[in-house]
Amino acid sequence: MTTNRKTLMIPGPIECETNVLQAMGAPPKSHTAPDFIKSFGNCLNMMKKVWMCPSGQPFLVAGTGTLAMEMAAANLIEEDDHALVISTGYFGKRYAEILERHGAKITILEAPVGDVVKTEDIEEELQHRDYKLMTFTHVDTSTAVMVDAASMGALGRKHNVLTVLDGVCSVAGEEIRQEEWGIDVVLTASQKAIGIPPGLALLVASPKAMETWKSRKTRVRSYYADWNNWLPIMDAYTAGKPAYFGTPAVNLVTALETGLNNILQEGLQERFERHKKTGLAFREAIRALGLSMIPKNETVAANTLSAPYLPEDVSLPDFMKAMGEAEVIIAGGLLPEIKGRYIRIGHMGSVAHTDLMNAIRGIARSLNQCGHKTDEDRGVLAIEETMKE
Ligand SMILES: *Cc1c(COP(=O)(O)O)cnc(C)c1O
Repeated sequence: MTTNRKTLMIPGPIECETNVLQAMGAPPKSHTAPDFIKSFGNCLNMMKKVWMCPSGQPFLVAGTGTLAMEMAAANLIEEDDHALVISTGYFGKRYAEILERHGAKITILEAPVGDVVKTEDIEEELQHRDYKLMTFTHVDTSTAVMVDAASMGALGRKHNVLTVLDGVCSVAGEEIRQEEWGIDVVLTASQKAIGIPPGLALLVASPKAMETWKSRKTRVRSYYADWNNWLPIMDAYTAGKPAYFGTPAVNLVTALETGLNNILQEGLQERFERHKKTGLAFREAIRALGLSMIPKNETVAANTLSAPYLPEDVSLPDFMKAMGEAEVIIAGGLLPEIKGRYIRIGHMGSVAHTDLMNAIRGIARSLNQCGHKTDEDRGVLAIEETMKE
């Protein structure tokens, strides 16, 4: 960006590519115009590619990530079904509330802050009760903890439990192979690693998830989220025909078409590798400044964002005030237990080397301004070193 605008490095919304912004700024099209129908159909096709789920059913609906979470719950849960929630932070607990609202009987397995729930513990719980569905948060945006999604898919298959992956902070940033890994629903929102402004709820459901929904005995409790209303729309747009249930967010849809195209042009594997490298470089830089991370080790650390603790002698409000002079915007804590003690920096999507540099310089200078001595150059060097490897 050449303007004096600050770079947005919070964990969503994130910076958008120029062609995405151009699509957002165009005059709205009719949702039944032939070129719009084509764009919508292209989005659905590209979603299956980005999710790596060729046999999946994509849903693209106006709403936020929370709607995508609720859509999976509303359509797959019936009264008194048992649901297991694997929680690694704030968004796991949110999923438990959503499932409960739709009539599920919830068991929640919560990881200690900065860690994941042990596979043995999940397995034991799955043997203990006949669960219909299990949710887990791929990257919990409140802790920057990443769960091993492949092993969760495998567990679900082994125990014949539907798996729902909250990928709001990971889809198109962290590696997900939905079909190969046997995950039944992978959901996200437009404003995180996909790199579109907020406003779209996106999910892909496996054939098994669609079967489960089709064989429901009771009506879906949410009108807006009901796949009965949306499946005919997705089918129509896929077949190149217009359809109406709720007016599509037309500009967001064409922006998504552009964004998904950008992602596929870069190449999924390349994109995952780039995020890994960026994440590692940033963590190394944070450690070089002497801060410690919430994720307890590298195996559970996400690459789409970092969540370091502030030093004990620095208060969050003072730190954030000092950050006001930096060239980037970052976020404070989110997890209630430790909210005032840490910060979050998003580095997903089109984040560039210079953005990482600006972020680490801003953090180092703000620490110094708060009276905590750090050496900015160490952070900068750590980024340089890691990025060139
Ligand atoms: C942001 C986020 C959500 C919620 O998405 P909204 O678009 O804010 O509703 C859910 N889960 C995770 C992991 C997130 O990062």
